[in-house]
Amino acid sequence: LSSRAASVLNALDIPTAKEVPGVYDGTWTGSGEVLESVCPTTGEVLARVQAASPHELQTALAKSREAYKFLRSVPAPRRGEILRQIREALAAKRDELGALISLEMGKIRTEGVGEVQEFVDIADYGVGLSRMMNGRVVASERPGHSILEVPNPLGVVAVLSAFNFPVAVYGWNLALAFAAGNATVWKPSPSTPLCSIAVTKIVSGVLERNGIPGAAASLVIGGKDVGEAIVENKSVDMVSFTGSEAVGRQVAKVVQGRFGKVLLELGGNNASIVMPDADLSLAVPAVFFGAVGTAGQRCTSTRRLYLHRDIAPSFLSRLLSLYKSLGPGDPLAPATLLGPLHTRAAVGIYSSAIERLRASGAELLCGAAPYATGELPGALHGGNWVRPTVAVPTKVDLEHDVWRTETFAPVLCVGVFDELEEAIEWNNGVPQGLSSSLWTRDVRNVGKWIGPAGSDCGIVNVNVGTSGAEIGAAFGGNKSTGWGRESGGDAWKQYVRWSACTLNFSDDAPLAQGVSFAP
Ligand code: NAD
Repeated sequence: LSSRAASVLNALDIPTAKEVPGVYDGTWTGSGEVLESVCPTTGEVLARVQAASPHELQTALAKSREAYKFLRSVPAPRRGEILRQIREALAAKRDELGALISLEMGKIRTEGVGEVQEFVDIADYGVGLSRMMNGRVVASERPGHSILEVPNPLGVVAVLSAFNFPVAVYGWNLALAFAAGNATVWKPSPSTPLCSIAVTKIVSGVLERNGIPGAAASLVIGGKDVGEAIVENKSVDMVSFTGSEAVGRQVAKVVQGRFGKVLLELGGNNASIVMPDADLSLAVPAVFFGAVGTAGQRCTSTRRLYLHRDIAPSFLSRLLSLYKSLGPGDPLAPATLLGPLHTRAAVGIYSSAIERLRASGAELLCGAAPYATGELPGALHGGNWVRPTVAVPTKVDLEHDVWRTETFAPVLCVGVFDELEEAIEWNNGVPQGLSSSLWTRDVRNVGKWIGPAGSDCGIVNVNVGTSGAEIGAAFGGNKSTGWGRESGGDAWKQYVRWSACTLNFSDDAPLAQGVSFAP
């Protein structure tokens, strides 16, 4: 192992000499398929991890159900206190975990550390929530009666997560599910196993110190097979799935087919709209970050840019000069802004998207090719390097693939509009509905944008880019993004089952709506 990788792994006590167990259900095991964690920056194999065998998965699910039975009787504020300790333990390793995210996923260090901070923040939120997951008392029409709406935990929540947020997405789910009294079973992306092992070590340490069964937060590393087995399993009460639209569609059908609960956080195809009155000194760098940050591998990455005709030339020339300043670098180095794509396959997906754009007659303003090995510094050979690309298709044709599908790479398509209404139609005219952003200083535009004739996305920003959400609001998207909501707002309400309880404390038993049924 290179010293670069060894120092990151050693700081988190991840063994590197032999195969690493990839299952935790109170104890560490793993005898299934061996997966390789590959560094996207260099191609170096960081570790070999043993995934869950079918038997180990079943055992973990059974132990998680037992852990749930324990957890549901622990008072919620006490669960909150344990979350507070998880928060402290994570914060103490924030920089180390952030570096591991950079090493294994490929995002730059500040974004890796920010991702851990997001887990810390949502844990804080879960602490508060543990004293605020209130039900309601509803007025009854019957004398001497009262109606309560009572939230109780669901049971076992499976968290199936994507490679691009290998820590935070689990954090959002764990904090809410745990505060609400559920056990979680986490199946992370098979290409980021080390992040999930490091997090689980930290979380399980806190659980064990507090006498909570470790299977309250189980880990089952594996690929598609393990994912499918979880989704099909009737003992999993809710599947919280984050990933692509294609896989999400299958997951939704299977879970709904067994009347389980499903929460979907799927792909985005996010647009920024820039009006002529926008402050370009804010909008240009924000679009740059949205399109290029995490090398275009955020669900909220800016993929479409709609510019008003009056400012389009000046906006583009300013944006392109930022693109020109970009170069590939080790994501662990503080000055790097452009990291690699996560996998070799993603380079192929990027290249096909560029081909499609070329074939459609689009003008390619910059980028438009992967880096050849000879163009890279020696330390980056073996990594998955592509040039961030800005393209101007011949027209905004929302039936065409280049506008309609999410390419999970740094490719930005630009269209020019004359009226805000036209740009909003373009914003809404794709299958996905995750994030959107309008740049303007005119309050009339703002009212239109956030109202019924405005953006149909789950995230509707003004003078803020499409990516980089805080945890306080519910996060998620509409339409083919899956309608799920996680993190803040009212998202916790999905992690409980609601009971409507009518209580009769009178000496009569009247029926509702005055129905008479006297024998
Ligand atoms: P993916 O769909 O390939 O995989 C997601 C997870 O599903 C992984 O854990 C994978 O192992 C598992 N999986 C694969 N096939 C399965 C099956 N048949 N049954 C059950 N599980 C299965 O996604 P990815 O490439 O890891 O992530 C990128 C995608 O995730 C992008 O589309 C991105 O927009 C989306 N994403 C969405 C959000 C959001 O909040 N909306 C957040 C992050 C990522």
